[in-house]
Amino acid sequence: MSAPYKRVALIGLGLIASSMFWAMKRSGMDCHVTGYARSEKTRNTARKLGLCDTVFDSAEEAVKDADLIVLAVPVGAMGPVMQTIAPHIKPGATVSEVGSVKRTVIDVITPHLPEGVHFVPTHPMAGTEHSGPDSGFASLFDNRWCLIVPDDDCDEDVIVRVETYWQALGANTERMDAEHHDMVCAVVSHIPHLIAYTMVGVADDLQRVSDNEVIKFSAAGFRDFTRIAASDPVMWRDVFLTNKDATIEILGRFTEELFALQRAIRTGDGEQLHAYFTHTRAIRRGIL
Ligand code: NAD
Repeated sequence: MSAPYKRVALIGLGLIASSMFWAMKRSGMDCHVTGYARSEKTRNTARKLGLCDTVFDSAEEAVKDADLIVLAVPVGAMGPVMQTIAPHIKPGATVSEVGSVKRTVIDVITPHLPEGVHFVPTHPMAGTEHSGPDSGFASLFDNRWCLIVPDDDCDEDVIVRVETYWQALGANTERMDAEHHDMVCAVVSHIPHLIAYTMVGVADDLQRVSDNEVIKFSAAGFRDFTRIAASDPVMWRDVFLTNKDATIEILGRFTEELFALQRAIRTGDGEQLHAYFTHTRAIRRGIL
């Protein structure tokens, strides 16, 4: 297919960037892809895997001549990385990023944007609990949402080109503003990860008094529910540090619901428990 961009630079070669590369190749997009990751080990693994047409030892070299630059590093690294590459971006290029949080990321990137360079934040709503350059695969974004979070003054044709690119990678796209994005993601992704991590912590605490039985006998429910607690701790530390308001808001609502259920259990209110589970089951069954 004719490529929306002739040269794409991927900065940070983990799960998301490597999946983007394989999805680009699968699409038959005729474009040259350069890459950079901070650690030498990651860069060497990427070279061995054939990830990117060229892997550079510096971000500055990787972005030179690129039409699209995608920052796929942990949210806390977005600002410093943008500051480093800014003087090396060619006029007319588009900078994008795939961070899980938008308001803070936009605020740390925007001050470093050179004159004449476009910026279109995105968030592919797809992932696994694995990380690193060898964890990516071409179908990760298939039929998943990629949220596009452009500024009001961004040119329409620049946004449409980013949307076309993500659609070629298999995703469906939808536009959203940054605050709304951060609240939606707190509900559908951030707080579920926090609860999964917490549940493993509870099991670990109990295990100390129950001779390893919790992990040994962990049944399907615990395994399914806590799968995402195997995710990268740096990524999730940064998500909670940068999406403080929305995650605190949703955590407050979550604990309200939990306390209501705790009371129903303590008082033996089977009617309330049944009604709640019936209502929430119907909603969950509607999610494919
Ligand atoms: P990952 O841990 O698999 O990869 C991150 C990569 O960034 C690694 O190669 C690491 O070496 C590199 N890196 C870290 N700091 C760097 C720096 N200062 N300079 C250059 N490279 C650096 O992570 P991932 O899952 O691919 O996540 C990347 C981004 O995508 C994050 O912002 C995350 O919030 C977002 N995201 C993740 C998921 C998910 O489920 N994993 C989904 C959507 C979006």
